[in-house]
Amino acid sequence: MNRVFIKTYGCQMNERDSEAVAALLRARGYAIVDDEAAADVVLLNTCSVRDQAEQKAIGKAGYLKRRRRTNPRFVLGVMGCMAQNRGRDLLDQLPDLDLLVGTQKFHLVPDHLDRIIESLAAQGPRPATIVDLAAEEGSQNTIRDHLPQEKRVSAFVSIMQGCNMSCTFCIVPKTRGEERSRPIEAIVEEVEGLVAGGVREVTLLGQIVTSYGRGTIPDRAGKSPFVQLLERLEQIPGLARIRFTSPHPRGFKRDLVEAYRDLSKLCEYIHLPLQSGSDRMLRAMNRPYNVTLYRRIVDDLRAVHPEMYFSTDIIVGFPGETDDDFTATREVFREVGYDMAYIFKYSIRTGTPAATLPDQVPQEVKEARNQELLALLEAQSLRRNQALVGTVQEILVEGPGRRPERFTGRNRGNRVVHFPGSDRLIGRLVPVRIERATVSSLYGLPEVEAIHEIAGGPASAEPARHSA
Ligand code: SF4
Repeated sequence: MNRVFIKTYGCQMNERDSEAVAALLRARGYAIVDDEAAADVVLLNTCSVRDQAEQKAIGKAGYLKRRRRTNPRFVLGVMGCMAQNRGRDLLDQLPDLDLLVGTQKFHLVPDHLDRIIESLAAQGPRPATIVDLAAEEGSQNTIRDHLPQEKRVSAFVSIMQGCNMSCTFCIVPKTRGEERSRPIEAIVEEVEGLVAGGVREVTLLGQIVTSYGRGTIPDRAGKSPFVQLLERLEQIPGLARIRFTSPHPRGFKRDLVEAYRDLSKLCEYIHLPLQSGSDRMLRAMNRPYNVTLYRRIVDDLRAVHPEMYFSTDIIVGFPGETDDDFTATREVFREVGYDMAYIFKYSIRTGTPAATLPDQVPQEVKEARNQELLALLEAQSLRRNQALVGTVQEILVEGPGRRPERFTGRNRGNRVVHFPGSDRLIGRLVPVRIERATVSSLYGLPEVEAIHEIAGGPASAEPARHSA
């Protein structure tokens, strides 16, 4: 049997795409292995967000091709954003690739691999690289057929591909193409299938999920297609939680804010990319909002949910960022009190408008600004976690932790919680009283009575033993 190892770089969309390719390959009789050294086929699912990410994957591919010396049938493929971004030019650097597959062609990977492997088995000359990078109409819908079969509690569901914005630092519109959304019915059907298989929580994925359905699905009763989708998912029996990432600030109109008030399954955790707290920098980044609007969105959301958890993306050291611009970012960062943040030091991304901007910020200044925000984030995160000590949190139990008899799950705010439990609780919503907090985790004890109610009988968990 051909053993395939898939290495994924980058974001959750890539994770999802790799999962999907793995599922298709399994269905075709391939074995997916965790050990790169044991694989006959290695596929690199690449990221183009930074030059550095591309260089890493190119280095890895260069290293892997040596495997052919000992295994002439070894197959090496590159998929995803870097394949799309660099196209055939990549073959100048990596002429030994067997397969180069773009972001709209993941579903064809098994066909391509079958062909390559057949040719190698026939022991003829090595076939030329298969290059499949074209746009494919409807490719966003082929994701439906990718579902992996493993039982799990939480699943990613891709609802759209592509992005029509043009942030000056970002390569995504080039690698993922124009916005293309799946029909509501197709997504609902997929989520129903997942729930039937034991999933209790879905995270809707897209480059800019709040643009879902724009231009193809009409607003209804003042509600955007994205809110209509959320309302449909709320109705699915057995589904306990709905999350999504990434939205765009400009997608937070009244209908979405009110969805947080009206939809009980929509978790009060929002990833709301800020990028910068300076209007001047937001303009330079071509982000279509200002800080006043951003603050208003945060206030509106806190008005419907005072305990709302916020996370964000920040870029420090964007070309031209002055001390004053950074101070403005730090102020918003402190004021919103983010629970989580992805802080990036700006690095030149070839092929984007910002790559040629003057006034690049020195590396040591970027580093200092990065460290300052990280320290702030740590303090804010610890403060939030400590405030949860003594409260009872609803935890969706995901599975065993690293220590014996310790289980993990997440509260609605996406905080990781560890507690004593048993397999029987996996997939259940369990109330846990929080006893201790660190920056990244919470530790607690399940409320036994409530577990009985939820589980419909005595729980096999023995929550009396407290562990740190
Ligand atoms: S909204 Fe901007 S940052 Fe996000 S994917 Fe689109 S272009 Fe990139």
